[in-house]
Amino acid sequence: MRAHQIVASMQPAELREVPVPEPGPGEVLIKVAGAGLCHSDLHMMHWPMPVAQPFTLGHETAGYVEAVGAGVRGLEIGSPVAVHGAWGCGLCRRCQADLEQYCVNPPMPGVSGSGLGRDGGIAEYLLVPAARHLVPLGDLDPRIWAPIDDALLTPYHALNRIRPLCTPDNWVMVQGIGGLGHAAVQLVKTLTGARVVAVDVDDTKLALASALGADAVVRGDHENAVAAVRDATGGQGVAGVLDCVGIESTIRLAMQSVHAISHIVIVGIGMGVAPVQYFAVPYETSVSTTFWGTVTELRELVALAQAGRISLHVEQVALDRVADAYERLERGEVTGRVVALPHGH
Ligand code: NAD
Ligand code: ZN
Ligand code: ZN
Repeated sequence: MRAHQIVASMQPAELREVPVPEPGPGEVLIKVAGAGLCHSDLHMMHWPMPVAQPFTLGHETAGYVEAVGAGVRGLEIGSPVAVHGAWGCGLCRRCQADLEQYCVNPPMPGVSGSGLGRDGGIAEYLLVPAARHLVPLGDLDPRIWAPIDDALLTPYHALNRIRPLCTPDNWVMVQGIGGLGHAAVQLVKTLTGARVVAVDVDDTKLALASALGADAVVRGDHENAVAAVRDATGGQGVAGVLDCVGIESTIRLAMQSVHAISHIVIVGIGMGVAPVQYFAVPYETSVSTTFWGTVTELRELVALAQAGRISLHVEQVALDRVADAYERLERGEVTGRVVALPHGH
């Protein structure tokens, strides 16, 4: 089968021919219908990877149950599923608390799961280590909804971190209206009463944010973006930030835009630093990162999607167009999310 793999550190990934995996005891083989292309894949191509290569990219995968290994029960062959890609040990205190993305004893050190050191879904087939990672999609099309496993799940988990602040009299700022950010805008609007100010450096992305319900938009490269955010929020500033870029300048804007009792979630892996200091941030401002989300949250998102309360803006490409799509993602030319279709339409 064809698989889009990282072959060597700090090199672009490439499409290769590899064997179709066979499911061993407890494992499930998925025929991939859709696999999202995440900006994190670009980071992995740029940074030295502390894990064995080659491995197949793709941590947002959906498809159909193709075959099951010995001992797997309750899965119907051919049924559509979303794959929760955080594959922990399943036994440690975090895995058992449904926080498998923060597994204490990952089965492979340094590896967080599907497409993040273990073979992921940008391939014709994906081997999933256990049935507990699968969430039934019902009538949702896996060629559209593959990014639910990350582009939606990650901002949903981050939003859950700031939910109590998302009251109707407060504002939330979403920075970076890409794959994650365009989902984040909708999640805040559909699940909370807070108003949204969306920030990007590209007018097309800001137009998408407005179309998806953002109450105000601001150019992040505006010469006085801080004042622009203040104006957009009637002078009050924001109670929460979902920073889906995470570089120095977006973190600075976040820290200058929040008011007292606020929380900044650094979701983007731009490696910017947040210098928290007494008087440097308003009283009771906190800052955290988040990583991915839980399988329970994925189930909740599937229900939200089935209820028609959320959408994904996707561009579908064939497997042999994935390398080109990553180049466009790098140049900021992708709106929404690119989804690879290994078996075509
Ligand atoms: P993307 O490329 O689809 O979107 C990035 C967006 O940021 C683009 O719209 C771009 O125009 C915008 N942008 C760039 N510079 C900006 C600036 N200075 N101010 C405002 N906007 C700016 O990326 P994505 O797939 O949505 O991922 C976003 C980030 O989140 C990446 O760093 C990725 O690695 C990270 N990520 C983190 C997690 C996690 O679990 N924490 C999960 C997935 C992705
Ligand atoms: Zn991702
Ligand atoms: Zn664990």
